[in-house]
This record gives sequence, C-alpha cells and structure tokens, in this order.
Amino acid sequence: MTFSPINNTDNTGDVMALRQNPSADQVGRPTWADIDLAALLHNLGQVNALLHPKQRVMAVVKADAYGHGAVPVCRTLVRAGIIDFAVATLEEAQALRRAGVDTNLLVLGGCFPGQEEGFIRDVLMPALLDLETAERLNRVAVRRRQQISVHLKVDSGMGRVGFTPAQLQLALPRLKEMPGLVIQGLMSHFACADEPCSEVSTEQQHVFYDMIDLVRTSGINPVEFHLSNSAGISGRYCSECTLVRPGIMLYGGLPGDDFAATLDLRPVMHLRSCIAQLRELPAGSGISYGHQYRAERPIRVAVLPIGYADGYNRLLSNVGHGIVRGCRVPVVGRVCMDWIMLDVSTVADVAIGDPVTLLGSAHGVTISGDAMAAQLDTISYEVFCRIGARVPRRYLPSV
Ligand SMILES: *Cc1c(COP(=O)(O)O)cnc(C)c1O
Repeated sequence: MTFSPINNTDNTGDVMALRQNPSADQVGRPTWADIDLAALLHNLGQVNALLHPKQRVMAVVKADAYGHGAVPVCRTLVRAGIIDFAVATLEEAQALRRAGVDTNLLVLGGCFPGQEEGFIRDVLMPALLDLETAERLNRVAVRRRQQISVHLKVDSGMGRVGFTPAQLQLALPRLKEMPGLVIQGLMSHFACADEPCSEVSTEQQHVFYDMIDLVRTSGINPVEFHLSNSAGISGRYCSECTLVRPGIMLYGGLPGDDFAATLDLRPVMHLRSCIAQLRELPAGSGISYGHQYRAERPIRVAVLPIGYADGYNRLLSNVGHGIVRGCRVPVVGRVCMDWIMLDVSTVADVAIGDPVTLLGSAHGVTISGDAMAAQLDTISYEVFCRIGARVPRRYLPSV
C-alpha cells in the first residue's frame, strides 16, 4: 500500500460526480481516503465462510457503500460473483444502474408515492412495507403491462417498518390477486443481533419462520428469504434463509463488541492527509479556537488540511490520533472546519509533506473505525458514512 497523496492521474474515474475529485488539469489538496478493495474481498471471504451452501450474499451498499463509494464497491463485488445488492433509496439504486450495475437491486427504504414508474423503468425491487404501496405498484405495473418484483418486509420485532404479522395475514389474500406484483422475497430485520445471545433475536426468528409458513400456506411462493445483517450472520443460524445482508462486515467494522475475537476483518477505508506546516511553539502556547489546548512544554505541531467539514468529527478535539512515520500522535486543540493540529514532538525526522493516517492503518499501526467510534460514543457505521464528499476516494486495486 502506498501513502502518496492523490494526484490527477489516479484511478478515481469510477467515482460518482458527488465526490470532489481533482479534475484532470488540477491537483487537489493532499487529503484523501484510500479504499482498499483487496481488504473488501478479504472481508467478503470472511462472510462467505459463515454461510451454508444454499445461501448467497446480498451486499448492502446503501449510503454510498457506507462512504466507501458504491460504484467501485459494487464493481469489485460483481467481479467476485455477487449478484444481489441492497441500497436505501431509489436514487442510490438509479445511480448504480446508470453506472452499469445490472444485478438484482433491492431498495430497503421502499417505494414512496410517485416513485413507482422509476422502480419499474429501472427494474428495481422495493422492500414492500405496506398494502397501500402494493396497490399503487400493482396499478402502475398493470397499466404498463409489466410486472414488478418486490420483497415483502415483515416487522418481526424491530419496531420500525414493514407489515406486522397481523397486517401480513390480512394482506396476503389481496397480494395474491395482484397481477402486477411478483412476490420475490420475504424479509425481516433483527433489532438486537449485536448481542449474540439476545432472546429478542430468538423470538424474531420464530416469528419470521411463522411468517414463511403463513405466506406459503396462502399460495404465495417467494424464492428468497432473508433476515440477517452482519451481526445476525455472525451470531445466528437461519436454516430457511437463501440470502444474508452484510454491510458493516464488508467494510471491516465489527457488528458488535462481542465479535472481535471470532472475526478476522480488515479496514477498507484509510483516511489520510499530509502535513502542510510544522511549527515549534514555546511552553505556554495556546493552540486552535478557544485555546482548549495549552502546551506545558515546548512542542512541535503539525498542521493538516482536514477538518470536520471532511467528516473528521469535532468531538475528536484533544482526543483523536494520527499515525505518522509509524508513531501514534495526539490531536491537540479543537478540530477546525478545514484544519487539525497534531503534537509531533516525539516523531524523529518529521517533515512537511509527510502523510498522516487518521483512520485505518499505516506501518502496521491501526486506528480502527470501531476504536474511533468508541471515542465518539457511536458506531463505526457513522464514522465511515460521515467521511465527507469533499474527501476524494482513491481505489487500491483488489488484486
Ligand atoms: C443496513 C441494513 C443491513 C446491513 O446491516 P449491517 O449491520 O451493516 O450488516 C441489513 N439489512 C437492513 C434492512 C439494513 O437496513
């Protein structure tokens, strides 16, 4: 892996226009995220090792693949044999279609009023959350003399979206009569799968199996059944399921605190910036807004062109770390919108232009998404998602 800053000849051509990659005739500031596609495939291998033979991976690439870039992530996974993907919104699915991703695509957020034509035109499958939406989709499909495949979503205990078991029972006779709909799948979602022994998950699994029976008895025969996110895959066995829906595991995040020992996952995203200025400051100097840091001794401070506008959380003020020349060094002072400062007094030969890793690994030292999330009292999902559009992604090849 290389640590040189992004330049105008890098391989970011795949990236959606949202990302502010330097244009061909211009070099960007030296702040970027390396996306290690070989690590992505390694993590996919870890998921695959947990499946039983009749199961496939439906890779969850919502929110631009948790900030990693949905198009390059999908292309890499397609080359590895994945034919099923899930996103959150119609717009995310359409962006993948425009980029030539022609696999099965499930939209977890469902179909909102007015989006029916968009789903049918691009052959996208909504998670079907209620009967009213089914009526709308059926009407539009019939008018177009087409059919649309959907995955019925049942709320088995998450307390969020989907048919309750009672609602599903009432809806089935009507759903069976809709010529415009193909009930391709039946799905549900765990609430507490990150606690491997949770009785909530056991109960949800029972409800899900009951719903499978109910649907089959009604004469509807979905071909796909799926329930497990990353934590569910790692901690639960679902004999009926044909698909699993990993997200965070693919990106190297742990699905829960209890999985650290059993899973060998590698970080995919490595957030880096280069030292723009170095300054020697005397004891007593205040650093950054509010002088929340005051040097107790003379220090050498490195200034990096990255800040909270890039998704480097302001709560990392005086708390975060960077890796420079193999040393872990602390953030000093408040994180600004566009700059952060590090105390590099201990780093021998530190120089302007040195790359610094703020998330991910360098020289065998790692700041994992989970470690950063713990400092922020959140989960790695949010750390990755928030790395902003202003940070260009550079894709390191998968082979
Ligand atoms: C986001 C999501 C997933 C993936 O969850 P991970 O914990 O990232 O594996 C799976 N299923 C649904 C319905 C989701 O919304």
